[in-house]
This record gives sequence, C-alpha cells and structure tokens, in this order.
Amino acid sequence: MNLNDSTNKTWLQQIFNNTSVAVLVVDKNRKILEINMALCEMWGYEYNELIHQSAECLHVSTESYLNFGQIAFHKVLNNTAFSIDYQFKKKDGSLFWVNISGDPIQNTNEVLWMITDINAKKIAEEKLNNQHLFLQNIIDGVTDNVFVINTDYSIALMNQSARSLLDPQYIQDKEKPKCYEVSHKQHQPCNDSEHPCPLKRVLHSQQTEKERHKHIKSNGSTQIVELTATPLKNDSGEIYAIIESAHDISSLVESQNKLRERAKELDYRAHYDALTSLSNRTLFIDRLNQAIKYAHRENNKVAIFFIDLDHFKEINDSLGHSMGDLVLKQSALRLQQSVRDMDSVARLGGDEFTIIIDRITDTDILAHIATKIIHTISQPIHIDKHKLYVSASIGISLYPDDGNTVEILLRNADAAMYKAKNEGRNTYQYYTEELTHKAFEHISLESSLHHALLAKNELVVFYQPQINTISQQLIGMEALVRWDHPDVGLISPAQFIPLAEKTGLIIPIGEQVLNIATKQISQWHQEYTINGRIAINLSTKQLQQKDIVHRIACILKNNQCKAEWLELEVTEGYIMSNPQQAINTLQKFQDMGISIAIDDFGTGYSSLAYLKRLPINKLKIDQSFIRDITTDEDDRAIVIAIIALAKSMKLNVIAEGVETIEQNDFLKKEGCSNVQGFLYAKPMPNDQILAFFQRTIGMDQLPV
Ligand code: C2E
Ligand code: CA
Ligand code: CA
Repeated sequence: MNLNDSTNKTWLQQIFNNTSVAVLVVDKNRKILEINMALCEMWGYEYNELIHQSAECLHVSTESYLNFGQIAFHKVLNNTAFSIDYQFKKKDGSLFWVNISGDPIQNTNEVLWMITDINAKKIAEEKLNNQHLFLQNIIDGVTDNVFVINTDYSIALMNQSARSLLDPQYIQDKEKPKCYEVSHKQHQPCNDSEHPCPLKRVLHSQQTEKERHKHIKSNGSTQIVELTATPLKNDSGEIYAIIESAHDISSLVESQNKLRERAKELDYRAHYDALTSLSNRTLFIDRLNQAIKYAHRENNKVAIFFIDLDHFKEINDSLGHSMGDLVLKQSALRLQQSVRDMDSVARLGGDEFTIIIDRITDTDILAHIATKIIHTISQPIHIDKHKLYVSASIGISLYPDDGNTVEILLRNADAAMYKAKNEGRNTYQYYTEELTHKAFEHISLESSLHHALLAKNELVVFYQPQINTISQQLIGMEALVRWDHPDVGLISPAQFIPLAEKTGLIIPIGEQVLNIATKQISQWHQEYTINGRIAINLSTKQLQQKDIVHRIACILKNNQCKAEWLELEVTEGYIMSNPQQAINTLQKFQDMGISIAIDDFGTGYSSLAYLKRLPINKLKIDQSFIRDITTDEDDRAIVIAIIALAKSMKLNVIAEGVETIEQNDFLKKEGCSNVQGFLYAKPMPNDQILAFFQRTIGMDQLPV
C-alpha cells in the first residue's frame, strides 16, 4: 500500500484511523514510520510518543525485541507473510498478548504489521490449560486407572496409572485411542457376558454402573479391576462421556480365591478320610440321617453294614504302619467296588468301615452284598513281595427294624459285627435283640475290669501241661490267666485281654500273672521234681516298657524263682514293631538264662531275615494251623515248613491246640514231638495240676 497516493489517501486514512486493528509500519531498521489510533490506544501511548521511535519501545524487553526480529521481522522482510501470537508491553508496563501478522510493503524495505489484541482470549485459554493441568495432576495422583470416555469409545482423558495399559500395537488412532483397544487389546467394544460394556450400560441406565473386568496391561499381564462408570452430562442432560475408574482388585480376588479353595479343602478334610478318600464318620452320620429321613417318607428300609478287618492289627504290628495303610487303602477300594455307586462307603477310623445301603425293598439282597464283600476282601493283596490275606467280619443292622436313630443303628451293627468275629471271623451277622445284652456285658466288663481285677485279686492263673509225645514226659507248662468274676464266674482271657491291651491295664495284669506264676513255680520246685519251664505270655505293651528286663529280674528275685525255670512267650507282632529293640531286650533275657518262645508262630508276618538274628529258643506253631491239619493241604504245608525251619535254625518247636490223635500223630511223624493241647490236658488251676504231676509219674495213663 502506498499512503502517498493522493486519490486513495483520504478514505484509506479513514479506514486506517478507524479500524480496531492496530496498524504499524516500520522501516528496515524497525523504526516506526506510521501507526494508527488503534495502536496508540492498544499500547496507551500518544501518537507523538511513538512516531519515528524504534519499535523496541513496544516490546517487553530488548531480548524480546531482538527475538521478534529473528523469528518474525526478517522473515517478513524476505517476503514471507507471517503471523504469530506474541506478548508486548504497554506504556503502563503491563504485558499483553496480540496476534501480529506482517506483510512486506513492495519495493520499500518497509513492513506493515496488523495487530489484534487477543489478550482476553489468551488469558482464558491459559486459564483453561491450567485447569486442565490441575485436573490432570489430580487424576494422576489417583492410583486407580481413570479414563474419561466419549460416547464413541474414544478416550478423552486418562491418568498416569491408566497409561500403563497403553500398547501402541493395538491402537489405530494415536490421538484418540479407543477404550477397548487400551484396556482389552481388542478392536471392538466389549460385548460378552463376562465383560459387559460399561459405556453401553451407563447410556442405558443413565446412572453410575459397576462392573468387574479383566484388563490387559501393556506388558501382557492381566489385572482384575472393579470399574465404576459415572455419566458426564451436558447442560441439556445428555450424556456426552463417562468417567471410568478401574480399581485393581487382583490381589483381593486372589486371596478370595485362596480362601475359597482353603474352605473347600477344610470342608473336604472335615468330611473325608485322608487315607482312603472315603467319607469319614461325620459325613457318614450325615448321610445316614438323610437316608433314614428318606426311608421314613418312602416307607422302605436302610441297612448299615459295620465292617471290621480281621487280623489287621497283626499286619500293622508286624509289617509296619505304611504297609497297614496300603492294606486299608486296598480294602477301601474293594469295598467300594463291591457295592453300587449310590451306596455310601465310609471309614470310621482304624480298620472299621461302614456302608449305607438305602432304598431297600427286598432285604434278601443284603446277604448277597455281604457275601460279595467277604469274598472280595479275602482275595490276597499283593504288596511288594508280600502276599497278604485279610478277611472281614460284618455286622448288619436295619432301619427301622433294629432302631430308628443313627446311634442305635450303629451300635447294633457294631454288636452284630462282634458276633461275627466270635463266630470265627470272615463272616456276617444280622443284629438280634440278644446281642444288645452282650454289648452291655462288654461295656460293664470294661468298667469293672479296673477295680475288680486289681483291687480284689480276682485274677487266677491256670497251667496247661506241655508233653513230649515220644518220651511221654511233662516238658513244661503254660501259665494262662483267668478272671474269676464274683457274679459271672471264670472269664476267659480272650474276652478281657484285648480290652486290657486297649486300656493299658495289661501292664498291671501281666505283672500280677508273672508274680503269681513265678511264686508258684518256686513253690513246686521246693516240693517236687518238675521238668521243663513255665511259659508266661508277655504282651507287646509290657515288653515295650523301658525297664521290663529289670522288672522281671526283680520279680524272679522276690519270688526266689530261677531264670532257668522260666520261658517267656512273645509274639511276632512285638518283634516286628521294633526289631532292633526286640533283639536287644530278648538278648538280655537270654543272657539271664530265660528261654524265649515265639507264640502263635505263622500268623504274623515275621521277616526271615530277622528270625536268624533273633535270640530265641522256640517256635510255637499256632493252633489255627493245627486245627485243620488233617484236612487242609495248605495248613499241612505250613506246619511242615515251620518244623523244617525250626530244625534248620536249631530251634525247639512245639504245636499248640492239639485236640486229636490224628493231629498228634501227624506232628510226631513230621518231627514235632512237643505238643500242648486238650488231647493231653486242659489248662488247670494249681490244685488240679498237682494231681496231674502225680499222674505223669505213670504216663501210660495219657493217651498216645
Ligand atoms: P495263647 O497264648 O495262644 O494260649 C493258648 C490258648 O489256647 C489258651 O486259651 C488255651 O486255653 C487254648 N488251648 C490250649 N489247648 C487247646 C486245645 O487243644 N484246643 C483249643 N481249642 N484251645 C486250646 P486261653 O487260656 O483262653 O488264652 C487265650 C489267650 O489269651 C492266649 O492265647 C494268650 O494270647 C492270652 N493270654 C492268656 N493268659 C495271658 C497272660 O497272662 N498274659 C497275656 N499277655 N496274655 C495271656
Ligand atoms: Ca501263649
Ligand atoms: Ca498261642
């Protein structure tokens, strides 16, 4: 523009002076050549104060003036149009923002600047920026992931923590990443039942929604978050975005899961037997209660099988607990396989099992089931190199016939089981009324055993002769205890010794027997010439006492009984319970001059390896092998083997339970000439035995 052009000058001057845009013309040295009124007003100067001055006076500082020259003035001078927001200083010293754009004036080396005051807008912008920064700082301080999500799923704002989810690989528009790209590394909004879309839900409900989501971090790890999505509404109440905050509950969920698992485990432990995985007593009672209720409603019957393994204790004692455990596991499995899936098999403890058979309409099936169980259980169990034989005794009680509560039914099945045991084991028995009386007898026996036995001296010892079948001579006697009960009469040790072993009373009982018997021997030796020793039974519990050797030595001394008059009968179970300790203890007895016999030999599971090292003198063949010796091939083979074994180890051998001449002859033929049994004599009280001594002088009175 050329202001000197006279035709245009007047109206141009008019525009120049009246426009609100400040106009400034400077020469190449940046000296002010022309300004308009607007500029004077903008800066607060008079026209004369500025005209022909350096433009520096408009600037904030010399530095700012020089800087402007660099970035703007020289560019415009070189013919480049230029526009910039720049800060200047008014006459009163206040700073303000303008938009300044420049044009070179052709062929003059002069520049025309058009300036608009944008201070108010700039301040507003700055304020907004500060607010934004303030907001960002606040949300960055929040540890949860916070997003502001527009209705098109793009993220308008997110905090520092949320940035940990950013993975550029999944983001299409870097400026506006979508929430599902960031949180889920997927390319479409969430849409499944596991991950309902919070935005959709808020848009639908118009209110705050909570969700649980799984978010994927940029490092690939996942976090479980609890989302709170709150609507952001504009003035007309429409939702334009949501604020979504995601609280990491991964560790909470993890500990909840752990707790849940632990609770499950505890629940399992509370209801199942750890060894066999069968139901335990608690669950059994529960199931039986349910079965009773159901049977009551449906008017049918429930049977309870009470199963006890025969001779399990011997296996456990002689082969050790881990072998015992394997037998229990195997038996549990067999029991389960013997019944229907719906029948509940439980282990009550030890070697006791129960089975509930419900919805019974025909009780005939019970005998089939019992027979099947007995058959299955009695199959040999192969463990390592051992072939073990277990059998089961079963007692059966019926709801409602034999009782209508869990306790009564269980007690009656238990009583029936005892009956089965007494019948010779490996069999089953139904409950009958009369069994209840027997069970009560059993209980009262237990409570009176303690008082009566020890306080009132009701123990008596019988003696059973042992005979050499070739010489017909008495070769010894076995001392066998009885309980002379004031009301009941003589009670067999088979009835109270197991009980005494369970309660620990066997120790004082055994000691009394030792005292009575040794006193008796020493008395007989003073009056008669008797051959052989008196054999006294020692139970495992007694032998396991640390001072047992000393105790017996004292008893012998007190009763003036010589060690060579005594033989101790110990069981295989005792030896196998702790072989090394047994060897030590038995050796001490032998050193004293006491003879050692292994009682019931063949029923336990003695290891031959130990047998060789054992300080023993005699094997006593168990009477169960003698019983069927004339008819049972296996028993015969076992007896022959034991006799051969004893011979090879230079041990004495004796057979017990010899009742018939056939048994006697067989043993004699096979080389076992020492016997004990009803064929020669029953166990007798001391006065009767005296008569026997006298008779043995004339041994021909004995059967041969
Ligand atoms: P045991 O040591 O095997 O004793 C032999 C058992 O066989 C005795 O039973 C005896 O009476 C019986 N008997 C002997 N000959 C015959 C026969 O020809 N036929 C038949 N069927 N049986 C015969 P008892 O006296 O009833 O003793 C049973 C068990 O009680 C004994 O078995 C023994 O284990 C235990 N016992 C007895 N007295 C004591 C004792 O003082 N202390 C310990 N710890 N246990 C004892
Ligand atoms: Ca014995
Ligand atoms: Ca025996």
